[in-house]
Amino acid sequence: MTTQLYLLAVFVALLLGLVVGKAWERYKLRDGRWVDRRRLREMPHYMLGLNFLVDNQVDQAIEELTAAASTDTDALEIQMILGNLYREKGQVGRAITVHQALLQRPDLTKLEQAYVLLCLGLDFRHGGFVDRALEAFQEVLRLDPRNRYALVNLQKLHEDQHQWGEALHVREQVAKIDAGRRPAEQQILGFLRSEIGGAQQRAGDAAGAARTFAEAIDADPRTVPAYLNLGDVRERQGNLAAAVDAWERLVEVVPDRAYLAFERLERAYRALGTPHRFIDLCRRHIERNPQGWRGRLALARHLAAAGQHRAAFDLMLEALSNNPHGLVIHQEIWQTLSALGFEPGLVHRYVALTRDAVFYLDPHVCRRCRYRSTELLWQCPQCHEWNTFVEERIAPARDTPAADVMANES
Ligand SMILES: [Zn+2]
Repeated sequence: MTTQLYLLAVFVALLLGLVVGKAWERYKLRDGRWVDRRRLREMPHYMLGLNFLVDNQVDQAIEELTAAASTDTDALEIQMILGNLYREKGQVGRAITVHQALLQRPDLTKLEQAYVLLCLGLDFRHGGFVDRALEAFQEVLRLDPRNRYALVNLQKLHEDQHQWGEALHVREQVAKIDAGRRPAEQQILGFLRSEIGGAQQRAGDAAGAARTFAEAIDADPRTVPAYLNLGDVRERQGNLAAAVDAWERLVEVVPDRAYLAFERLERAYRALGTPHRFIDLCRRHIERNPQGWRGRLALARHLAAAGQHRAAFDLMLEALSNNPHGLVIHQEIWQTLSALGFEPGLVHRYVALTRDAVFYLDPHVCRRCRYRSTELLWQCPQCHEWNTFVEERIAPARDTPAADVMANES
């Protein structure tokens, strides 16, 4: 687990502690059993424990909070945080024991019960006890139907098991709670629908899959895999023109991922007897994305295949000046130079252009958790977020040694 995720978990634990603390305080007041919360805050073990927590010194935090808990055995939130810390340390069994013991308390309010169950669900999920985690989160939702955190965890559990329909159903409830406050919401709904379509496609339900892919695009027009798959389904159904429609729409609506449809479109246009449409499409794409390189490379390859090496070479140099570290461009250039007999003037232009080249580290990195992947992924295997991958570049060594992430462009 990365430090960032770890800090997040600690933060959530703290937050939960505060929320439950408040509820608990109200409960004590209502029950007529007055407990002075200030006494807790004045306890050195408690404050020290929280400080160690913020400082990411888990072992010391556990030590101090354990001492605080033995002084004030009633303090639910301290036990809850302790349990969460055991979980984050990988001591899942211990975390489960602590949280289950809390559930045995006879005087828990509904809200307190929900929060302890939430912690327990996280323990189970962490320990790989999927069914018990599902049960715990469902129980949280029975007690507190609008608990967003439980819903999101439930969604992720379903996603882990590729239960896309269930995941979508849960996510729609999250969307209702968020009600347009988070723009990423539609994107997640789109990607989940796209996965459902993929499952239908694999099961042989082409018509159902096509419908679902169209729904995914309606949910969020930036759901790139839905366009690709929709076209593939239509192509397999024998409707190449409709397939081309889907792929062209991708180029139009999501230009930074347009390149994913280039090969399919080139092949389809050829099959339809209209290869010039590929040249037109690339030219339009290049015009609309003057800083891009993939449209230029695609067109250059197309022209080179037709023997137009000089025009291809010019396009490749343009692509290279937009993306000097694209190995694939260098390879194409060498092939073209070879086809043109290594004409000295052309070689000179290439060498002059590459003098300032920088290199790719890893092609794709998750913006959220910085997970690295050699291929473009739609869902991050580490933080499970959707559509977070960008291409990573480093600046030339003479400028700065620090890696920085730049938005991908085509
Ligand atoms: Zn990630």
